[in-house]
Amino acid sequence: MLSRPGLPSFDYVRAGSHDEVVRLLVTGGPDVRLLMGGTDLLVRMRDGVVRARTLVDVKHLPGMRTIAYDSAAGLTVGAAVTMNQLASNADVRAHYAILAEAASAVASYQVRNRATLGGNLCNASPAADTAPAVMVLGGRLVLCGPEGEREVPIDEFFLGPGKSARQANEFLTAVRLPPPRQGARGTYLKLGRNREGDLAVVGVGVLGSPSSEVPPGYAFSIALASVAPVPLRATAAERLLAGQKPGGAAFAAAAQLAAQEARPIDDVRSGVAYRRAMVESLTRRGLETVWRGLSAASSGRGR
Ligand SMILES: Cc1cc2nc3c(=O)[nH]c(=O)nc-3n(C[C@H](O)[C@H](O)[C@H](O)COP(=O)(O)OP(=O)(O)OC[C@H]3O[C@@H](n4cnc5c(N)ncnc54)[C@H](O)[C@@H]3O)c2cc1C
Repeated sequence: MLSRPGLPSFDYVRAGSHDEVVRLLVTGGPDVRLLMGGTDLLVRMRDGVVRARTLVDVKHLPGMRTIAYDSAAGLTVGAAVTMNQLASNADVRAHYAILAEAASAVASYQVRNRATLGGNLCNASPAADTAPAVMVLGGRLVLCGPEGEREVPIDEFFLGPGKSARQANEFLTAVRLPPPRQGARGTYLKLGRNREGDLAVVGVGVLGSPSSEVPPGYAFSIALASVAPVPLRATAAERLLAGQKPGGAAFAAAAQLAAQEARPIDDVRSGVAYRRAMVESLTRRGLETVWRGLSAASSGRGR
């Protein structure tokens, strides 16, 4: 006997235009679901968690698989760009390395060949590995709907597990990142139950850069995955760092604050106490790693 219901039958539509997608969403309602890599959607349909009569494949639409970088405008990543595309793209690696690192942390090489950035964000899982990277980079999500296009800052996108600010009649076309902060260094640290193919027990993204806007001369952004109902900015920790000289004491205090800001749950992957302890440990390690990069660059030893 099958332990799972198995993948039910459905109609497949390869969308030919943005208008067609919106029309199908408007007329089909909850029976219509959007498809990109299918690594979340098809698994959930197989398990009977999601029911859909029609899957609308949007990954072939113009721009959906394009990565475009401009030093003045920043980076635009088509929603259907895969994790392996992101991880190997020269512009992403050079200017937004934390995003390449986060993409490489998703699942296995085989899954990363299909799994897309847009699917990872639209699934709205608290454990989405790319979310902390896009958050610390100040990303905006481009949504296309009946009224045209709108942009939503990623900090306002996640509303709860599986819930986002995307309206039912909208779909994601791209993720936009502002031009990279001058001299920025970042890292994404992920703790899973095994090295490949598992969701994060804890994920921590840290980005630091020289900044004349804060007294210490360096600004830090921190975002957390898998430790709250949504991917989360550790804003109290960021504020503390905006007022203290970078170094061991400040990083330890900020890491403690980040652990307090986390709102983890017990689940199959881990427990509350362990997750909090790991937020503290990974945040401190992330800050130290980033600081080493910034210090090396300022003393002329960096790239
Ligand atoms: C074995 C395995 C391991 C995994 N490990 C990880 C991991 O380590 N880290 C991690 O973060 N994730 C992991 N995942 C989850 C998954 O691979 C990622 O979330 C992936 O990025 C989803 O992208 P996709 O293109 O496959 O999305 P899809 O499955 O195609 O879609 C995901 C959701 O987004 C919706 N959607 C699709 N396209 C759009 C659009 N254009 N606009 C709006 N909504 C849209 C779909 O309807 C669906 O609800 C794993 C999955 C598997 C099967």
